[in-house]
Amino acid sequence: MKLYAPSYYKSFKCVGGDCERSCCIGWEIDIDKKTLEGYRAGKGEVYDRIRATVATDASGAHFRLVDGDRCPHLNPDGLCDIIIALGEGALCHICREHPRYYNPLSGSVEVGVGLACPEAARLILSNCDFSVCEVGGAIPEGIYPIEDAEVPEWIYRELFAYISGMLRGGESVEKNLSALIHLGLWSDDAQCYSYRSVSPADSFTILPLDTLIGDYISIIEESFPSLEALDGRLIPRILAATENIANSPDALFRSLSGDGRLDFFRLLFYFTHRYLAPSMYDARWAERLLLSATLSLSLYFLSFSEGAPLVDTAVDFSASIEYSSENIERLLDYLSERFF
Ligand code: SF4
Repeated sequence: MKLYAPSYYKSFKCVGGDCERSCCIGWEIDIDKKTLEGYRAGKGEVYDRIRATVATDASGAHFRLVDGDRCPHLNPDGLCDIIIALGEGALCHICREHPRYYNPLSGSVEVGVGLACPEAARLILSNCDFSVCEVGGAIPEGIYPIEDAEVPEWIYRELFAYISGMLRGGESVEKNLSALIHLGLWSDDAQCYSYRSVSPADSFTILPLDTLIGDYISIIEESFPSLEALDGRLIPRILAATENIANSPDALFRSLSGDGRLDFFRLLFYFTHRYLAPSMYDARWAERLLLSATLSLSLYFLSFSEGAPLVDTAVDFSASIEYSSENIERLLDYLSERFF
């Protein structure tokens, strides 16, 4: 089975002990069943030490964090004692795969790296070619292509190819945001009527930037208060940034029409690659396209309004908000109710 990834994926490498925001701090690390069985069956001092750090509850097993919310196996040099003693094969699924995400399609799987990892964020935010390519590597256990998909994979391929081409073409932000609305409607038709003869590239109305930004401001103001963030200050900060922009939008318009445009496209590419493919399961093409724009703009607003580096803001945003599947579902439900 083929594995496809954004072109920057092949350059990703965890920097381990040199990481300024280690993923072994601040997250509860769930242990999958197979790895847990291995830890339970292992003999010797190393396994005794691992077992002493495992806690179980109704939701499964995880490592009990120690002072500073650190994984108990993260040593003072920022390295993992499990890898040092037993090799990477002894890691649980999450530790082995982070920060990768996988999106199964019917004949292939899409893989990428997530913005919560600073190394991945630097790659995502320096992307210039907006394309995916076939990559080698094994597909992890538990990731299977979708059998008997009700939704044909060509809809995803056409949509994604069109969006990639549009971002590469350096069109205006208003053209890209207007295109997402058009593509959502196109994909619903394509799915209902096997509408392959009509190209997603057919002409559509390009809305003014102030109208589009005004709509997304209202989406963020209405939907973000219902989200939960690991860092409780983040949602109030996003809402304050959105209010600042609503009160005084001209500098943002200048940024999105100038130097900031490429950064915004990089965010849009990442969020679209990450969240569009699951439409193969739920057929929420239009909502997922609007979701990509909402996430991209809310993150851009925050960085722009606070004058903070986009990479740092992106890591905070992703770790605190985006990595929660409940938050993504809430945003999708909100967009469904509001527009469809
Ligand atoms: S956040 Fe990324 S670079 Fe840092 S330790 Fe985790 S995977 Fe490695």
